[in-house]
Amino acid sequence: MPIHFDNSFAKLPPQFFSPQLPTKVAAPSMIKFNASLATEMGIGSDDLTANMLAGNNIPDGATPIATAYSGHQFGGFSPHLGDGRAILLGEVISPNGSRHDLQLKGSGKTMFSRNGDGRANIGAVIREYVVSEAMHALNIPTTRALAAVTTGDMVQRETATPGAVLARVASSHIRVGTFQFHYARRDKAALQTLTDYVVKRHYPDADGPIGMLAQVIDSQANLVAKWMGVGFIHGVMNTDNMSIAGETIDYGPCAFMDNYHPETVFSSIDRHGRYAFANQPKIALWNLSQLAQTLVPLVGEAGIPMIETALNRFDDLFAAEFATVFGQKLGLLAPKPADAALVEDILNVMADSGVDFTLLFTHLTTSLQTGDASAARALFDDPRDFDVWLEAWRLRVDDWQKDTRIAAMALANPVYIPRNHRLETVINAANSGDYAPFKELIQVLAKPFDHRPEFDAYALPPKPEQVIHATFCGT
Ligand code: AMP
Ligand code: MG
Repeated sequence: MPIHFDNSFAKLPPQFFSPQLPTKVAAPSMIKFNASLATEMGIGSDDLTANMLAGNNIPDGATPIATAYSGHQFGGFSPHLGDGRAILLGEVISPNGSRHDLQLKGSGKTMFSRNGDGRANIGAVIREYVVSEAMHALNIPTTRALAAVTTGDMVQRETATPGAVLARVASSHIRVGTFQFHYARRDKAALQTLTDYVVKRHYPDADGPIGMLAQVIDSQANLVAKWMGVGFIHGVMNTDNMSIAGETIDYGPCAFMDNYHPETVFSSIDRHGRYAFANQPKIALWNLSQLAQTLVPLVGEAGIPMIETALNRFDDLFAAEFATVFGQKLGLLAPKPADAALVEDILNVMADSGVDFTLLFTHLTTSLQTGDASAARALFDDPRDFDVWLEAWRLRVDDWQKDTRIAAMALANPVYIPRNHRLETVINAANSGDYAPFKELIQVLAKPFDHRPEFDAYALPPKPEQVIHATFCGT
């Protein structure tokens, strides 16, 4: 059966996109096809060949385009970004009726490529595949990876590395920067068209631009709180990398923290720590303010107070979601206002000692089961402050509903995250044509909350010589 495409974005007015075929590549070869995601989308195993996934053939029903957007990159506005190395094939309608963009990333130059080659190297494709699928398994809204293929061509970055294409699936690829594109061109009609389109596609119960804005604010507050609950640092929260649908998108120099510190930055291009771990809520709000700005032509002067009210709710929405996320991590079933101090205190104690974020929380889960907190305690060189906190936490998580607390913690505290040193290892192997480590890592991360003894090594933090201090765009 052919894939069920219905390409609504490609029916928008011409300034939204440019028709664009992928550039042919030498020798497409499948690395990994995500069969379970394909099944969810009603895509059969023969419907997408390596040739199609690399862009050499176009599946029936696709309407390949490159979409237009702008963006604030590290605070500076670039009016002309757009899909410079990605092509949207179209929207796949799943058997359950849901609509998802299918995009090829790394599929050649477009009118938005500027000086870029429109290509992706295998390292970037594998990083995005692993991390986006891990995020999904961690119950965090994200774009997904449908397939990774090699192109048979080499891509020149710092060195020449094998080229690859990621087939990416998203609720849509509309970004804050998509609104900014039309705002910068003073194209009010396009802003209205885009708003109507986003409301219909993503927020059908929203009432106009302000209702839409309020819902985008809510989804972003939730998303960033969820990131922080697993120690995730996006790394490039530019407005062009913020999805209107509230999904994590555009995995570049992203990373999960090993040792906790709120100021952690991995991205080598983030010199001033703009996108540091604890800055993420502030930046999300800054980006949302840019979105709000683009809606002013639609709501007029009279609408500005309502826009401000919507933006002013961000801090409370974020704080509430953060309390829920960390409450669950600590087994607090119904977080109370006083619990904020308990959360803040453990984070401070962790930061002071730089303990492993993921391990501390899994050890706390075990400690509630066994009554023995020695593994958690052993993470601290000097456990005195931790002991004080532990006492307070134990008083709070009394025996009442202990099993429910343990279950909540087990579902909030992953055993396995995509640790940087593991990603590095699988990327190095893939660069020399060995995909087995990549495939095993995907298998481990597909069930991040289930402890499996055969994968014990994946739960461990890096040894000192394995620590990765910086991640590079390396696209
Ligand atoms: P990013 O922040 O990495 O998502 O990319 C920012 C902008 O640069 C987007 O418009 C991308 O399409 C463009 N871009 C990144 N890498 C390339 C490349 N290799 N070729 C062409 N455009 C690129
Ligand atoms: Mg981007």
